[in-house]
Amino acid sequence: MKGLCKLCGNNRPLQNSHIIPRSFYKFIKSHSGQLVRVQEHKEFSHLSNSDPKEFLLCYECEQFLSCEYEISCNNILIDKQKILKSERYNDTFELKGYDYTTYYLFFISILWRAAVSEKYGARGFACLNKFLINSVKNKTIFTMQGDRLDNHVKLLLIKLKDTNEQISQTSLQEIIVDLRIEEPIAEDSDDDATVIYMVLQGFVIAYIIHDPKHPFNHIRFRKRVGILQQSGTTLIPTVDFRELRSIFKAINLIHQRPLKTRAHRIKNKITHNFKSKE
Ligand SMILES: [Zn+2]
Repeated sequence: MKGLCKLCGNNRPLQNSHIIPRSFYKFIKSHSGQLVRVQEHKEFSHLSNSDPKEFLLCYECEQFLSCEYEISCNNILIDKQKILKSERYNDTFELKGYDYTTYYLFFISILWRAAVSEKYGARGFACLNKFLINSVKNKTIFTMQGDRLDNHVKLLLIKLKDTNEQISQTSLQEIIVDLRIEEPIAEDSDDDATVIYMVLQGFVIAYIIHDPKHPFNHIRFRKRVGILQQSGTTLIPTVDFRELRSIFKAINLIHQRPLKTRAHRIKNKITHNFKSKE
């Protein structure tokens, strides 16, 4: 299929591209051999072997994203040398020894793919394209306006666990929840922040976006736990998946037996979690 490549803008044959990189689907298929897709707004899940794809990029741009971001970041969430249990804090992991710009832009490149896709564009992601494309294309943390992108889009990492031990850590790693928009995760995040998140390999990866309509507003995070840090170490909290309402719903759909609910509201619990670690 020929069309305009979303990255270089040239009219070329387009590749059928993944929005969430293929390696994450491969990881699941190599473990459980089967994908389960949970459809939003539908109270059922179904088995599927197809990974969601769209015609977005020419061959050269697909290769560019793959070589520059994906190859070096494919194992970021399952690299036991880089993500270790914290010796200083309970229920916390430490991510160490990473190249901040590459990791940050890898996740930004996934959000950018969503912004230019039909599926997510129609859900309001399209407006993000103009803020993200310069960074993805030129491997820079700076936006076209010369401002740091990470002043406006923060990356938050949370490791999922099941304190009731109904679901093993391995099973949690085999769940992909597509990108979706969520209410603010922390109670004290700015009121107009938008949170977009996905679940990959047992982690919630959330993009906290400070009003993309006003990209020069300054963003302030009082709590740093979970936010990908420029230098040194990122502390990753572990959170019971039941505390994240929509993730609980998605996982509940996959498992035929209803899981015990502790019915906690997302914000109060997580805020509490962050506070108790400081
Ligand atoms: Zn291209």
